[in-house]
Amino acid sequence: MPKVFVTRIIPDAGINKLTRAGYEVHLNPEDRVLQKDELIGLLEKERYDAVLALLTDKLDKDIFKAAGPQCKIFSNMAVGFDNVDLDAAKEMQIMVSNTPGVLTDTVAEHTFALLLAIAHRISEADNFTRAGKYHGWEPMMLLGSDVSKKTLGIIGLGRIGSRVAYHARKGFDMNVIYYDVKRSEDFEREFGATFSSDVEGVLKAADFVSIHVPLMEQTRHLINAERLKLMKKSAYLINTSRGPIIDEKALAGALKSGIIRGAALDVFEAEPKVEPELLKLNNVILTPHIASATEETRDKMAELAAFNIIEALEGRTPPNLVK
Ligand code: NAD
Repeated sequence: MPKVFVTRIIPDAGINKLTRAGYEVHLNPEDRVLQKDELIGLLEKERYDAVLALLTDKLDKDIFKAAGPQCKIFSNMAVGFDNVDLDAAKEMQIMVSNTPGVLTDTVAEHTFALLLAIAHRISEADNFTRAGKYHGWEPMMLLGSDVSKKTLGIIGLGRIGSRVAYHARKGFDMNVIYYDVKRSEDFEREFGATFSSDVEGVLKAADFVSIHVPLMEQTRHLINAERLKLMKKSAYLINTSRGPIIDEKALAGALKSGIIRGAALDVFEAEPKVEPELLKLNNVILTPHIASATEETRDKMAELAAFNIIEALEGRTPPNLVK
């Protein structure tokens, strides 16, 4: 009976899919991220045919070596795969898969929730009310910024970026400007969107900038102190992609000194740590990497991660092989 190791407790939907396919599933006994040496120890103790891993697992050559030649696939339960050394996996002839698509709507919703919340100062207002500071309606109290008919800048117009643009255009009549390494003229026609051939063009034009590129060497610190200065003073930055795409210290500085008006972040440069200066600021909303965290979507992600394993172990090509 093929054996699968799952690096952390995940929704039953994923585990049941594997057991129904006739596999023996071994779960990380602790409900926490395994340290590298712990994961190596568990993988060396038994021979597994597949590993279902999470974005919090750093999957490098040592891990693939520990899994040994019997292990065919590491199935990452995330769309991002910046936690995986793909060259090492290739060298060890181990397949790597991810879970794209099933979380697109949920992450786009969370992105829009952050955008609306920062513009309408929802967190600040909630804290204010709970602190007993509301003593009656005031004409100048907690003034925010409109979203409708403003300009949304999308950096990375893939699955999630284009869904965010859809909500902006259809729901809030926003103008959309985007930057991506690939231009999409169909999208421009359908959404009346403008293509910018560089990041700078988006930063200068947008009232809200939302980041949706993957983390790679080319996108690390894509948003730095210099580029933040190009944004409007009244603009907001939203990031539900990966933390290291923004220089967090530079962002804290820009928020503190009024270079931009606000930010909303679901991801951080050195998770789970958050730049201490950000924690002191009112004009930033911080959520703990939960953009895909709905019951429905986590079930789908677990099922898709399991399906990729089943396809690999049955000798077929997994649908979401990362190349
Ligand atoms: P996708 O591959 O569909 O879209 C990425 C887009 O970025 C593509 O259009 C691609 O052409 C573009 N791109 C790549 N490199 C670029 C570069 N250097 N400059 C400009 N554009 C570039 O991916 P997706 O499904 O939309 O997901 C996007 C990212 O969102 C993932 O990589 C992941 O890191 C992140 N994510 C985060 C969460 C969360 O919980 N916060 C959940 C899901 C995804």
